[in-house]
Amino acid sequence: MNGQKIWTSYADAPAQWCLALVRTDPDAPGSAGISVLLIDMASPGITVRPIPTLAGPHELNEVFFDDVVVPADCLLGRQEQGWEIVRTGLAFERVGVARYARAGFVLEVLVDHARSTSVGGRPLAEDPLVRAKLADLRIRCEAARLVSYQAIARQAAGTVPVAEAAVARMHNTVLEQLAGQLALELLGPAAQLTHDDPDAPLGGLAWRQWVRNIPTTVAAGTLETQKNILGRALGLPRSA
Ligand SMILES: Cc1cc2nc3c(=O)[nH]c(=O)nc-3n(C[C@H](O)[C@H](O)[C@H](O)COP(=O)(O)OP(=O)(O)OC[C@H]3O[C@@H](n4cnc5c(N)ncnc54)[C@H](O)[C@@H]3O)c2cc1C
Repeated sequence: MNGQKIWTSYADAPAQWCLALVRTDPDAPGSAGISVLLIDMASPGITVRPIPTLAGPHELNEVFFDDVVVPADCLLGRQEQGWEIVRTGLAFERVGVARYARAGFVLEVLVDHARSTSVGGRPLAEDPLVRAKLADLRIRCEAARLVSYQAIARQAAGTVPVAEAAVARMHNTVLEQLAGQLALELLGPAAQLTHDDPDAPLGGLAWRQWVRNIPTTVAAGTLETQKNILGRALGLPRSA
């Protein structure tokens, strides 16, 4: 096997195995000639290069495969069944209940902050604009809980939640970004201080929530990809 894959989360964790989509039929069109291989990361020919980013703890890597030999029994499913396998797998990966739980935690911390902090002699929690923004986030958290449960209910019933996972991902990744944005707004310029700065308000929570969620609407399929999946599930015409 030869090739390269960028943005591989936790490849240097270290990972013992990776799952790769590889082209096994060079003549088949598009997604038709692809298979899934389980690859031992200790195989000769694999190089993992970390990619440093500003977005919190290290996660991302680029992985290179140079003449890597993969045993035939490391084929997952059937040869050329790769696209079907990975589409199903991604429908499960995309749900991610942790997302609305994290945003919900940030919201609770912000509500406490608004109650205990006064600006110009008045608690932030009495400011109608602040109240409206917190309420908006609370409603979105509740909606996130429901769309996640809808997808999980389909999983529990033994079906693949393709459309439901796309809805959950679109809604809940944007929710995480909104939680970070509201935290920055309420805490002001000091919110940009990171957790290792003793002056960082709320232990650097606002910055962490904001910066770590910039790429969240890209990972596991961008928002546009999710919209395409949903459009297809709704029977809308395909884009040209
Ligand atoms: C934090 C993070 C972690 C990641 N972890 C992993 C990992 O562990 N393993 C892994 O395999 N990958 C990982 N990725 C990669 C991620 O899955 C891809 O970056 C993502 O699916 C987008 O693909 P791309 O980068 O090729 O962008 P492209 O597909 O090139 O998209 C570029 C732009 O074009 C738009 N676009 C593309 N096609 C269409 C279309 N048909 N219609 C409308 N708009 C379109 C996209 O929305 C986007 O705005 C990670 C990425 C990030 C940011």
